[in-house]
Amino acid sequence: MPKELEIETDVEELAIVITPEVQKRFDEIITQIRDEIDEKRIEQIEKAFHFAANAHSGQTRISGDPYITHPLEVMGILTELHVDSVTLIGALLHDIVEDTGSTLDDVAQEFGPVVALLVEGMTKLSALRYDTRSSEERQAEYFRKMLLSMAQDLRVVMIKFADRLHNMRTLEVMPIKSQIRIAQETLDIYAPLAHRFGVGKIKWQLEDLSLRILDKVAYRRIAERVTMDRDERENALNNVIEQLKIHLKSEGINAEVLGRAKHFFSIYNKINRRGKSFEEILDLLAVRIIVADIPDCYKALGVAHNLFTPIVERFSDYIAMPKGNMYQSLHTKVMDKEGHTIEVQIRTREMDEIAEVGIAAHWRYKEGKSSRIIREDNLKDYYRWLRQVIEGSKEEDSSEEFMQTLKINLFTDEIYVFTPKGKLIRLPKESSPVDFAFAVHSDVGLKTLGSKVNGKMVPLNTRLFNGDSVEILTSANAHPSADWLRFVNSSKARSKIKRYFKQTQFEDSIRIGEELLQRELKANKLKMSRKEILDLVNGAGHESPESFYAAVGAGDLSVKRVLKDVIGEVTQTIEKRNAARQSLMRTLKRDTSNVRVKGADNLMIAFGNCCSPLPGDRIIGYLSKGRGIVVHRNDCPNIADLSKDPEKLVDVDWDVHGGSLFNCRLRIYGEDRNNLLKDMADVFSKMKVSVVELNLRSEGSLAVGTLVVQVKGLGQLSRLMNRVSKIQNIVKVERINVADVAEKIV
Ligand code: MN
Repeated sequence: MPKELEIETDVEELAIVITPEVQKRFDEIITQIRDEIDEKRIEQIEKAFHFAANAHSGQTRISGDPYITHPLEVMGILTELHVDSVTLIGALLHDIVEDTGSTLDDVAQEFGPVVALLVEGMTKLSALRYDTRSSEERQAEYFRKMLLSMAQDLRVVMIKFADRLHNMRTLEVMPIKSQIRIAQETLDIYAPLAHRFGVGKIKWQLEDLSLRILDKVAYRRIAERVTMDRDERENALNNVIEQLKIHLKSEGINAEVLGRAKHFFSIYNKINRRGKSFEEILDLLAVRIIVADIPDCYKALGVAHNLFTPIVERFSDYIAMPKGNMYQSLHTKVMDKEGHTIEVQIRTREMDEIAEVGIAAHWRYKEGKSSRIIREDNLKDYYRWLRQVIEGSKEEDSSEEFMQTLKINLFTDEIYVFTPKGKLIRLPKESSPVDFAFAVHSDVGLKTLGSKVNGKMVPLNTRLFNGDSVEILTSANAHPSADWLRFVNSSKARSKIKRYFKQTQFEDSIRIGEELLQRELKANKLKMSRKEILDLVNGAGHESPESFYAAVGAGDLSVKRVLKDVIGEVTQTIEKRNAARQSLMRTLKRDTSNVRVKGADNLMIAFGNCCSPLPGDRIIGYLSKGRGIVVHRNDCPNIADLSKDPEKLVDVDWDVHGGSLFNCRLRIYGEDRNNLLKDMADVFSKMKVSVVELNLRSEGSLAVGTLVVQVKGLGQLSRLMNRVSKIQNIVKVERINVADVAEKIV
């Protein structure tokens, strides 16, 4: 074929690939970004447009439109977020590896490795398929992979949001079944993700489009109600806006005042989740004030509070404490003379833009003509968050736990609390001091003993609120309690506590398993070399002795059965085996606990951290999942709770032999004076009692001490308390539970 002819054909094909309508739409989009992106980069975008059009040539969408219209519109959505040219090129090429003959190498060669990385992320994402009916495991797998692809480069997230938005806008051509599946996925995952990444503008569109498919009736009803009485509501709103404008101006504040539209999904949510009525929601007037700088934000707040009556408890300052998704604004609620409630948001122009585009603001203007800078660490925060979600749910976790982690991270709002030094710590709503401790550092969490909120001792399950100042008291002897899992709310605390229990249980099981094997061998007058033991272990299907011992110790594997092949026949009678086991249990129990269990088989024994029983105290055991038998005092307040399942209560007795020491918690009240502490220390040392922990504070003339001492039993304790109470100026000495620490000191 002659050369000229070949070129002509190409040109002709190109003309078909890009129809005049498509070209026109491309030009329209480009016109909007000419001011933001320089000419050289615009040329790259044009090149990508032709490359994609060629690759997709001949392909159509289900609607019959040329396929290129999809990547083009995805790019169009992204230009509204003002992202960089790399993201725009990634958007144009996002489907070509998945759907055409082009490869990632082609993309890398033409557009560089960064664009290729974005396309790769999108390709991986599109291979995943969400199915609400599939097992929890498969869903968990889906999300894990999704987050991993996104974590490569956060611009993948942006492209994915735009891709999903365009697909949602053009969903009506799909079969109903697919519409529902895609809408559900959008509502379950993409809308909350868009919220988490601060892209408000895309978030509400995704929600409203999903609602329209998932609950057609409700959607239509909301649409009707919103149009009803619209004029009346708009009059009231305009009146409020007008008043605000006049007063802001007279205070010399240059401000834009706007009414805010209420999105259908948010109305839907308020009705269904919070039980509000249409009237309550629609009568609420929503206003936004946009000003030049932060000082003006607070001035404008003053104006609003002067003009209308503030509903005080409704004020939030997200300027001083930005939300995790970078959102900043002042929120307040006020009431006008006619009794309308008005929700006012006050923010700068830049804050307003960030509220709309969120994470996208990070790439804005960087390569363009403006020099505006968005803080670098915001991006790091997002990566850290993604990593945390992915890592907080490592393989050992069940799918159920992963989904829980993901939901905690996606759907909870946040609170902001402070360390004693004033460092800001961000936690999910309804967090406790334990969540706080783990957020500060895992080691702090694992050694947490007590907590103070705003200077007062509080129980560890206290709920924290915005602005609380939190202090954690730690002790080298403290360790997590299984109870914590009932009230912690952050994924980090939850996974660290669980890991702690898995770890300690595992170590106990190994120790017990090894002991059981040795005893069984001895009973059979057998000796085994390391090599023989390894063979035995492998023969039982375990790779390492540790995992074998752990299985034996946990009761999943019977030593007897394993040894049966080795011995040839069972020589032990059942009685003998039981005797061996019981004698082993006695040894282990003595070593670990000083407590005898009547007729129980469990080997792990721990003391309730709440009431710290002492020999002489009347005690009872509680069979606790993950901790074995936990011994409490009969009068421990926790026992009242626990005895709801009486089958878990176990009779236990003291079986103390020489030298054992027990922790006991005391509180001492006295009038403060010089040398009080020294006199106390003298008493302790004379009685040879060691103090594990001491906390002494003065409140005016009153000194309050909380301390943990080590004693042999109740007898020694009462002698000690007697002696201490005779120290000059000491008013009262009492034995306390951990939970008591809270209420009484005020
Ligand atoms: Mn796509």
